[in-house]
Amino acid sequence: MTSVVDERVSNEVEALEVILMDDVIIEREGNKPTIIETVVHPLTGDDTDQQYVCVTLKVKFTPDYPDSSPEVTLRNPSGLDDQRLSMINSKIKEKLAECLGQPVVFELMELVGENLTERNLPSGQCLFCLYDFVEGDKFTKTQCYHYFHSHCLGSHLIVEKKYYQEYLDKLPNWQQMQAPPYQPTCPVCRSEVSCNVDALREAPPPIESKNAEPFPLTPERKVQKQQYVERFCL
Ligand SMILES: [Zn+2]
Ligand SMILES: [Zn+2]
Repeated sequence: MTSVVDERVSNEVEALEVILMDDVIIEREGNKPTIIETVVHPLTGDDTDQQYVCVTLKVKFTPDYPDSSPEVTLRNPSGLDDQRLSMINSKIKEKLAECLGQPVVFELMELVGENLTERNLPSGQCLFCLYDFVEGDKFTKTQCYHYFHSHCLGSHLIVEKKYYQEYLDKLPNWQQMQAPPYQPTCPVCRSEVSCNVDALREAPPPIESKNAEPFPLTPERKVQKQQYVERFCL
């Protein structure tokens, strides 16, 4: 089945293919592009280690796109909570209204990308200190995509290494000789992590810890602390 494709659409799709290459999926019915899908990251250049959030932008063309707005959905968000997604979604709606009658996919990619760049932080808490990640915090993304304040992770690994050494010291000599050297692991998934523990430890403590009351030990926090001790320190 072939049909005439609006030139505005064919030009847009061609440009997307040239610029994004393998990073864009284009579905077609016959020769007519119907769905565009691409993963949007914060604009950090080639430094992918510094990207903590991302989302898939899916644009479904209406039959008379761009004279009517396409259906736009955000899928597989990573590091974004619902509040943030609905904020981006409402900006998308505004943009669609503004751009009615002209191709809008690049505009949408830019809008989402800028939004991710503005707050390129993982959402949620650091497992160790239970404080949120905030602007200005130094944090580390492990190879297994888990996030911690650098300071907290450094402190944890130092303690873990110390416990491992104490454990080794109690073993008979021959067992000590056979034991593997200490290997830092991710406290969430136990994957091996490679990092410079001393450099981590030198990172400033979490910003929220400075603003907080001197350790408010709520019942919830007490339980979490206990779980932490049992999991990592015993
Ligand atoms: Zn922390
Ligand atoms: Zn992990």
